[in-house]
Amino acid sequence: MNLRHVLTSLLILTVLFVSPSVFGQPVSDQTPAVIPVPSEAQASPNFDAEKATEAYLALMPASARARSDAYFEGGYWLILWDFLYGVVVALFLLNLGWSAKMRDLSERITRFKPLQAFIYWLQYLLVTSIMVFPLTVYEGYFREHKYGLATQTFGPWMGDQLKGLLVNFVLGGLLVMGLFGVVRRLRKTWWIWGAVVTTIGLIVTVLIAPIYIFPLFNTIKRLENPRIVDPILSMARANGIPARDVFEIDASRQTTRMSANVSGFGKTMRITLNDNLIRRGSLEEIQAVMGHEMGHYVLHHIYKGITFYFIVIVFFFAYLHWSLDLTLARWGGRWKIRDIADPAVLPLAVLLVSVLAFAWTPIDNTFTRTQEHEADMYGLNASRQPDGFAQAAIHLGEYRKMSPGPVEEWIFFDHPSGRNRISDAMRWKAENLRLFMSDAPSAAVPVSAAPTGGAKPH
Ligand SMILES: [Zn+2]
Repeated sequence: MNLRHVLTSLLILTVLFVSPSVFGQPVSDQTPAVIPVPSEAQASPNFDAEKATEAYLALMPASARARSDAYFEGGYWLILWDFLYGVVVALFLLNLGWSAKMRDLSERITRFKPLQAFIYWLQYLLVTSIMVFPLTVYEGYFREHKYGLATQTFGPWMGDQLKGLLVNFVLGGLLVMGLFGVVRRLRKTWWIWGAVVTTIGLIVTVLIAPIYIFPLFNTIKRLENPRIVDPILSMARANGIPARDVFEIDASRQTTRMSANVSGFGKTMRITLNDNLIRRGSLEEIQAVMGHEMGHYVLHHIYKGITFYFIVIVFFFAYLHWSLDLTLARWGGRWKIRDIADPAVLPLAVLLVSVLAFAWTPIDNTFTRTQEHEADMYGLNASRQPDGFAQAAIHLGEYRKMSPGPVEEWIFFDHPSGRNRISDAMRWKAENLRLFMSDAPSAAVPVSAAPTGGAKPH
């Protein structure tokens, strides 16, 4: 988690929520575009879920697997380097007195306290963004290209970075103004109300993101192709989802990753497929992914996520309250930070939060992964496409390690691993084989719904 991310924790959390889904991602030139159903996974009286799982896993060439393992395991180290780099940047700002100088400048510009906090924020975000830029450009540009996941040239990529920075200026600035306002007025209980303000900021961001933020980076339009849309809407109706539209986003502008997500809140909540999935996924695969996204929707994962993060945020603020008092008493004078209401305290707050956030990684991943597993189970039942689901798991295996150890999965995976997903799908298929056996024509229809003379359908 790099400094800018920690700092704009609001945006980070938004990303966590706004796409609690992201069923997927990339496909490289090494994986078959359309993944066949291996013979061991074909429905037959001898169907064996374990053998079917192994047969699917064997479809992924060894070179493709080595590449995705390297990409994903490299990500483990990036968590550490981002954290350490962020610590260094914060200590730099504090020890060289830059933070105090930025505060002084904002006070020379205006006497209006909320505006001082905002101007401090602008300087802070600009300076830290520049300082972490080498890491940002390595992680977001060179590394993505190295693994064949990126589609942008440097100019457009940089353009997106600048747009992201502008969003952070505005949303982060509003949050910082709100938080320092709370600290100035409520010296004893600021940490509780700070958590409330942060959570409100989170909800507002989730609410507006599909309408005002995503379109800054991509074009989102209604998906028209009836071959894709009709089965999806049928599945939505069958599951009591009042959807009339499915949206498509041109994610291929930035990446080769396949994905889909549920975003928004209340009336802005919507399901969006990305164009990589539409172009490369089989129809069965698209339906399996949509079933998963509908799982997020029906199981209220966005609302549960916000509730969970509210509790987490309160906990983080309580820790901040305690640790800021401790560190300011010791080093506040040296860093020329007057007290907790002084905007110059921000790098210290970010530093302290990043330490806890780093340790928090496995818990955060486990919360998300648990929801993803629930959506997987829902999606299998809703779509009845275990093979499409296995195909998607392989496509996603281009950037996510397929077969981690259990501890590794617990610590680092925010989605179930590909192996576990295929295994879930094949177990589901084994228990529902009658749906796929051609010699059992009425098996898919509940007996009570079979058209018998005089019986009323229900
Ligand atoms: Zn998901």
